[in-house]
Amino acid sequence: MSAGHPATTFRNARRIASFLALAILWVASFAAGPSRAQSIGSPKFHVDSQRLQGTLEKLSEFGRNPEGGVTRIGFSETDLAAREYVSDLMKQAGLQVRVDPAGNIFGLRAGSEKLPILLFGSHIDSVLHGGNFDGDVGSMGAIEVIRALNDGTVKTRHPVEVVIWTNEEGNHFGLGTLGSGVAAGLLGPEILDRKDEQGLTMADWLRRYGQDPSNLTEARIPKGALAGFLELHIEQGPNLDENKIPIGVVQGIVGLKRWKCVATGFANHAGTTPMNRRKDALAAASKDVLAVREVVRAEAGRQVGTVGYMRAEPGAVNVIPGRTEFPVELRDLDAAKIDRMWERIQERFKQTDKEENVDTRCTPLDDVDPARTDPAMQTAIRDAAKSLGLATVDLPSGAVQDAQQIAKIAPMGMIFVPSRDGISHSPKEFTSWQDVANGAEVLYRVVLLLDDRLNRN
Ligand SMILES: [Zn+2]
Repeated sequence: MSAGHPATTFRNARRIASFLALAILWVASFAAGPSRAQSIGSPKFHVDSQRLQGTLEKLSEFGRNPEGGVTRIGFSETDLAAREYVSDLMKQAGLQVRVDPAGNIFGLRAGSEKLPILLFGSHIDSVLHGGNFDGDVGSMGAIEVIRALNDGTVKTRHPVEVVIWTNEEGNHFGLGTLGSGVAAGLLGPEILDRKDEQGLTMADWLRRYGQDPSNLTEARIPKGALAGFLELHIEQGPNLDENKIPIGVVQGIVGLKRWKCVATGFANHAGTTPMNRRKDALAAASKDVLAVREVVRAEAGRQVGTVGYMRAEPGAVNVIPGRTEFPVELRDLDAAKIDRMWERIQERFKQTDKEENVDTRCTPLDDVDPARTDPAMQTAIRDAAKSLGLATVDLPSGAVQDAQQIAKIAPMGMIFVPSRDGISHSPKEFTSWQDVANGAEVLYRVVLLLDDRLNRN
């Protein structure tokens, strides 16, 4: 090779120049954040799958049922003991732990800049005869993320904070997403006088949790205090498991509307009233139930509609039902779609009324707005999964979540991991340890990505 040839020298010079440019870029990327630049690119896990499994198994001992799973109702002795365990884990991870007047447990890890807090976590209360993954995965996953940050001595710009919300399931006091509802300012002192079956009030229980209920409103998180809220959760539906996709990017939490409907006919003798002279409220309601299903199925999408029960009166074997009560519930990510479906359903009810000679009236019961997840959080979840080589799919959450409440005060994102056969709120609830670890590692990476991307001037 003739090194002195002018063309070759020119090529070499260009090569050296481009090498230098690359080297400068490389050094610059390190200066910006050494551990981060390395960690996000590599598929190597930072969370410790076995350590995470260990804490989930230990948590499952609190309220364990003989048939498997747990009963760990919010505001119970079992919940109290589990909260002790989780608080200790947070302290061991070096977090600065505090409990707010609504009983929410927070664990703070300082950031290097004066920025709003990046909050993540879930709940550890369960339903009656619940499973070991709903809420637990997101709670233990969040603490594992902190341990992984500590292991890598990673400094974040934002303060990061783990939260365990109080009484998400609402089996006690019939009030779900209680802690997050108070934090978001949607629930206030009006809840304190609610009584449970033992005659204890919510205020009594908050006192048992070491709180002064008269300070309840101090649990409100002001707008702007949070850079965002992230929740890792099991899907509680079959989409991820069925399609063998490890990570779900939640588009939002569906809204719902409920009505109580009463079909009024005329109660009369079942033996002597001819078929063409009847005003059978139960027969009419039966048509209406099927009409709800037909209307909801007529449109493409993931919307759902349910009639949960029918109550016929007088309810005797030899009397034509004169009155039948039934609820209608519609859920979707798009509130306008819910309204559109309800209009069609009402038209169908009118048609039934004419055909069956009855009168059906519906009154609104519940109205919960859909909560959209933040687009920047969705992108971060997709990027984090991609860096691990994990496939994702966008999907709504059909179940109510704490994140729905927090969406009122901060940008919110949710990561779903598969539920085997879509089963949840059951001792049969199951998510593989690999899927649990995937979810926690995605959460770890999303926290770092958002820490890097948010609040840049
Ligand atoms: Zn849950």
